[in-house]
Amino acid sequence: MGPIKTTIVGSLPKPQWLSDPEQLRAPWRQEGEALEQAQDDAVALTLASQEQAGLDIICDGEQRRRHYIWGFIEHLGSVDFENPAKKQSRGQRYSEETPAPRVLDEWTWTKPVLLDALRFAKARTDRQVKVTLPGPMTVADSVFDEVGGRSDADFAAAYADLLNKEARALSEAGADVIQIDEPCFNIYTDEVKDWGLEILERAFDGVTAKRAVHICYGYGTEVVLNWKKANDDWSHYNATLPLIADSSIDQISIECAASGVDLSVLDCLAGKDVMVGVIDVGTEEVESAQVVADRIRHAMKHVSAEHLIACTDCGMVPRSRRAAEGKMNALAAGAALVNRELGA
Ligand code: ZN
Repeated sequence: MGPIKTTIVGSLPKPQWLSDPEQLRAPWRQEGEALEQAQDDAVALTLASQEQAGLDIICDGEQRRRHYIWGFIEHLGSVDFENPAKKQSRGQRYSEETPAPRVLDEWTWTKPVLLDALRFAKARTDRQVKVTLPGPMTVADSVFDEVGGRSDADFAAAYADLLNKEARALSEAGADVIQIDEPCFNIYTDEVKDWGLEILERAFDGVTAKRAVHICYGYGTEVVLNWKKANDDWSHYNATLPLIADSSIDQISIECAASGVDLSVLDCLAGKDVMVGVIDVGTEEVESAQVVADRIRHAMKHVSAEHLIACTDCGMVPRSRRAAEGKMNALAAGAALVNRELGA
């Protein structure tokens, strides 16, 4: 054990018997009770593979969700995923229009969505358990509001109140970390300042678990990788991180391995835990422990070891199982190398 801890952002590839691997939103291959059992088995495998790798803070790999947003919002009300609307999502960064599920009624939160899943995970590990939830700005950007045609800010605010109930329930049930995913914080930087961060904090109100936010440049899929290759503006964190530095957020997940981000931007986060992305989730090639250690040492110029959590850049659902497991092993081995240098 040493000061530098390890975790993954969230998603992991699904086993072939659960759904088509390496695809976002792949349909389930089981239904009814068989699906529930298959998800339980997939989570048990996922927890074991994170423990075997030696990761400190583990999660269910989002094995119970077809997609990190869909698998949560479908429990809040009627959503039409089969006949999506076209929406100019993600600031048209990756495509001009994106299919957006239609929200057909006013959402409500009647009972926890992920509480049984949390209990299942906690019964099977002594390690710290993290739960990931889709963030208000990102959900608002991803759906088409058929109910009231609300602005994204109004939609996000209403959703944040429901998300807060979920986050509190998970926190009270013993989740160690609640992570809210807001990739859109790297797109709509003006809106983050105007309303995004305030609404995110509302979602965390009263939560005693560690409050984490994941902000990235997207999954390692082809459209995203093409955008990254052509992109030369990596200044988005410069706008958002100073705001988060003044917030109640405890941990911030940052994409560092595959982006062109200048890590000096992390200097403003002194006192916060920083989940530094040291694993590129856009390649099948598995980093060596030495490469991971070099990335951690580089980040240590800006984040103290006590506050550094070595992490993946984003979720690994599009990767092969072999690559995802290899990358988790490399992540833990690289952090162990640096911890040994630190005398642990
Ligand atoms: Zn991400």
